[in-house]
Amino acid sequence: MRTTESVEEVRELVAAARRDSRRIGCVPTMGALHRGHTNLIRSAVEDCQLVVVTLFVNSPQFDDPDDFHRYPRPLEDDLATCQELGVDVVFAPDDQTVYPPGGQTTIDVGPLGQIFEGHHRPDHFLGVATVVVKLLNITTPDVAYFGHKDFQQQLVIRRLCRDLHLPVEIVTCPTVRDPDGLALSSRNVLLASDQRIVATSLFRALERAEAGLNNGEGDLQAIRRKMRDELESTPGLDVDYATIVDAGTLEETDEVTKSMVAIVAGSVGGVRLIDNLPLNTESAPRP
Ligand code: AMP
Repeated sequence: MRTTESVEEVRELVAAARRDSRRIGCVPTMGALHRGHTNLIRSAVEDCQLVVVTLFVNSPQFDDPDDFHRYPRPLEDDLATCQELGVDVVFAPDDQTVYPPGGQTTIDVGPLGQIFEGHHRPDHFLGVATVVVKLLNITTPDVAYFGHKDFQQQLVIRRLCRDLHLPVEIVTCPTVRDPDGLALSSRNVLLASDQRIVATSLFRALERAEAGLNNGEGDLQAIRRKMRDELESTPGLDVDYATIVDAGTLEETDEVTKSMVAIVAGSVGGVRLIDNLPLNTESAPRP
């Protein structure tokens, strides 16, 4: 495994692999790798002959400087994990490499980046989109892997790849959870044990949505109310949103569409958490 901070070195390694007609996979991460990340990396190692993992805590996508500063950065552990999984290249650049002084260009993804996460974290997706385009341009993969856990993020990335004609396939891997339902997140280590219990209410709200649709309830407003009831009755949780949306557009429709997803976000002790669950809409009444 090669670990590098250098754009040129990554480009050379990727160019050599491409000359050998190897399929190149990239897994962009901010490090503090957990089973959610390792699942993405395993998929990449299975499908590709050169796997590049990027480790970079991208400050522009953080709206809260405290969140950025306390974000965990266990570099040695992350490198050991990558080595164990058979990663070929780890690209762990510093800020100046990704954002050379004088840089001015950013990627604005439009309306999809302004709702939900974008509404609660202005400029978040500007930061995400800009760094993802940079990382994809540096690593030039055939395929890049993202998690369903950040549902809006993978939609935004799919949108920008289409809009900018980026020649990369986007694969979205399922959300990995702890047994109590809490979605794994690098921020979970910042939760005290009582806060961690509070955080499981996010998944319970998603399960309420799932149960509502499985029971054939067609009243989405009523199901949305049940989701909010679950979260609002949990002391210690500040709810940002809890709703059901169309999985392609993120629109909050009144009627059940072919593909829907329940999405929630909130903070526990100042630690912001998001989660979502794809919903089986087969059994729900349709117009
Ligand atoms: P991050 O390091 O938080 O930027 O995440 C890097 C990638 O891992 C993103 O594509 C995330 O969606 C994905 N990811 C994070 N947590 C999970 C999880 N619990 N399950 C699946 N994918 C995840």
